[in-house]
Amino acid sequence: MTKVSVKTGDTVLVNSGKDSGKIGKVLAVKKNKDHVRVVVEGVNMVTKAKRARTAQEKSELVKQEAAIDVSNVNVICSKCDRAVRVKHAVVDGKKVRVCPKCGATLDAKYVKSAGKKAEKTEDKKAAKAAAKAEKKSKTTKADQEKKATKTATQKKPTTTRSSQRGV
Ligand SMILES: [Zn+2]
Repeated sequence: MTKVSVKTGDTVLVNSGKDSGKIGKVLAVKKNKDHVRVVVEGVNMVTKAKRARTAQEKSELVKQEAAIDVSNVNVICSKCDRAVRVKHAVVDGKKVRVCPKCGATLDAKYVKSAGKKAEKTEDKKAAKAAAKAEKKSKTTKADQEKKATKTATQKKPTTTRSSQRGV
């Protein structure tokens, strides 16, 4: 796998293309087989025609960021505020990105948020389990309803017959 020098949340400088010189936050990193593209806030804006799929929706032109190649951006070091070519290093057994100019670790904030991420995944797991349980109860409810309707339909002809007999 190619080493990723840009991560979501980074501030980057665009160094080529129509938005050359712009600075923005990385909104998404899209990894492909052999190239990485990034979506940068306010950079490479394209107009997309959004069609109304339902009556409530409006057909409109939506401006949104399109991905650009990762080679067209440089991460801006949060410490020295310079656009740099990220270096990869191992610190305390962990792979980190390092600013070659001031030596600051660019991943410090990510190390901190790692705990948060773990919590999030746990939350997701719990939510998934809850959703599963709900689904189960829903299906049983639906089954019960089905049974109820079945018995009702079965009962119907007998009642009509009896009423006809009565008349
Ligand atoms: Zn730096």
